Amino acid sequence: MIRIGDRATLQVRGRPLGGAIDGSLVVGEPVQFVCRDGQIIERGPPTTETGESMVGSSDAFLIPSLTDSHAHLMASASRRVRLDLGPALAPDLASLFDRLRRAVSGPGENWLVGAGFDEALLAEHRAPSLAELDAVVGPRAVRVRHATRHASLLSSTALARISAAGLTESIFPVEPGSALFFEREPSLTSLTGPPDGQELCSALADLSRDWLRNGIGRIEDLTASNDAGRVRWLGAQRREGRLAQSVAAWIGDADEFEPARTAAGEWIEIVGVKLLAHDEETVRSPRFLDAVARAHRRGLPVAIHAASPDVADAALDVLASATPVVAGNEGPPPRDRIEHAFLCPPALIDRLRRAAVRVVVQPAFLTARQEKYRHELEAVLWPWLQPLRSLLGAGVALAAGSDAPIGPGGVGPALRGGILRGGESGAPAIGGAEALGLAEALALWAHPFSAAAGLRAPALGEPADFTLLEVLPNEANGFRVEAAAVVVAGRRLL
Ligand SMILES: [Zn+2]
Repeated sequence: MIRIGDRATLQVRGRPLGGAIDGSLVVGEPVQFVCRDGQIIERGPPTTETGESMVGSSDAFLIPSLTDSHAHLMASASRRVRLDLGPALAPDLASLFDRLRRAVSGPGENWLVGAGFDEALLAEHRAPSLAELDAVVGPRAVRVRHATRHASLLSSTALARISAAGLTESIFPVEPGSALFFEREPSLTSLTGPPDGQELCSALADLSRDWLRNGIGRIEDLTASNDAGRVRWLGAQRREGRLAQSVAAWIGDADEFEPARTAAGEWIEIVGVKLLAHDEETVRSPRFLDAVARAHRRGLPVAIHAASPDVADAALDVLASATPVVAGNEGPPPRDRIEHAFLCPPALIDRLRRAAVRVVVQPAFLTARQEKYRHELEAVLWPWLQPLRSLLGAGVALAAGSDAPIGPGGVGPALRGGILRGGESGAPAIGGAEALGLAEALALWAHPFSAAAGLRAPALGEPADFTLLEVLPNEANGFRVEAAAVVVAGRRLL
């Protein structure tokens, strides 16, 4: 069980980390914070005091607690229990077929769901044909989710069940005869059902603990299929202590807001509407405009999935012409977001800045997907691939997310990606001029959407949010982030 600490009073001691002008790390003199009711009420030199309410030490390094601003919690947990068909265990078609053949050999009428497949990472660089897949899995309904989660391999029996459920409009093959189908809507997941409940819950508890050890105290869940049912499940995991972090969830449709808020109770905050858009046409469709308008009318911002510049441009057009978010009673109106913006040319950076739209990037992909990028993207475009330094320099409100399970979970892979940009293996860095210093890369996690101001210690009057590290992440340890303690809003989570 995860220990949820007392919120009343807490003292936190450590050496605050800050950023130098060149983005490198500056280690400050030891300080001690006194926190009450979730706020920092005092800051001074360390005392010799010890006891239950004391967290950290004069040797520990101190940063704000970290936020993963874009993850998929249920999918990350289910990835841990699903049949793994990622490149580590299935590097070519023969091993993919072998793992599937063994998985379907037992009795069972239920769906077999696998995950992690990506044809770009297979030796053959192609997806199996429908005939090849059927020959391996026979009459079993098989769905293997693509690593991007926007496509699946489907067997003929799976296709028949999808057709019987009236969902064929939501899928189409990438090419005639292929077993790989693009998915327009996240509707197939409701058909295949979730993995076994108990197994999924304990996988989530493991995941929460792993990410806590990475210093992550807050998570934003950007799953477009989030509805009242999913939010209820997440809330139950928080209530029962399996999910330690604070969670803000984005839901798939504004009309789901009231039921989702009721289902979430006090455990999950419902903060906006996540909209998927894989092409420009989708973004400019009346249905999409209506989805944005309904969110804004309820005071909810939208987070638009836009990986390519044409989709991001279309999204900015739509946001510019949409009625603004209806402001609530307190604070400034919430701001819309673009998720990913992987390929981001200078003109798009400028538009993002002028539109004051927030952007959430996934620096870990610069390492995890580097082979794919080097293979598929001309070198002249590399400087436009997640141009983190230019985005920060332009003053775009930037934050980072893992996009787990599509990307690797945790903070370390993102630090490595943002700092080295694939340059560690002796290969040329992907757009080396866009590389961040350690303090800048950490600031994306420590100060979501205000990272441009650099890494800074928590200040008086701010929420009592701390992560304490015993070792600094560096190239030699693979930029591993290992937290000794995590405090969120005055509660000690680790
Ligand atoms: Zn995502």
